[in-house]
Amino acid sequence: MTRLDLFIDRMVSQRACLDHAIAETALIDGPVFELGLGNGRTYHHLRERIGDARPIYVFERAIASHPESTPPDERVILGDVTETLPATLQRFGPVASLIHADLGGHNAQKNDIFARKVSPLIEPLLAEGGMMVSSDRMYFDTLTEMPLPGGAVQGRCFIYRR
Ligand code: SAM
Repeated sequence: MTRLDLFIDRMVSQRACLDHAIAETALIDGPVFELGLGNGRTYHHLRERIGDARPIYVFERAIASHPESTPPDERVILGDVTETLPATLQRFGPVASLIHADLGGHNAQKNDIFARKVSPLIEPLLAEGGMMVSSDRMYFDTLTEMPLPGGAVQGRCFIYRR
């Protein structure tokens, strides 16, 4: 597999998993949390698909997204997620209908260490029936790993549900 193959598989899987999770959680009216804005491509996809049905809050260290993919200030939760996720649990409680995490970089080992660190911070935020989509395998005690939808590639995206 080339790096281009891996990249394409990740993008195709992200879209398939996000579309699936958006549909599966459509009847839960809690907020959507986007962890890692980056260029804002997946935020833009979430915003276009969800519209005004649910508020989308974006967690990011520093905003550097495409202008068309930049969330309004009041929907940005700025800072390191290891600090902002616990603060968000205090602020909102366990109400998220959908959480998408794409926080990793190019080093798979570092991504895995970070996934282990943030899993217990993400887990309590999810509402009953809520779903979590991640580019990295997560380490949850109380969420169930779900089968991937058609079009997604095994190992390139992961879905969990409470
Ligand atoms: N999904 C995005 C897109 O479609 O454009 C790409 C996200 S990019 C791969 C990862 C982002 O996560 C980066 O912008 C980085 O700043 C952010 N990030 C990584 N670790 C973080 C942390 N500990 N706290 C907050 N943001 C973090």
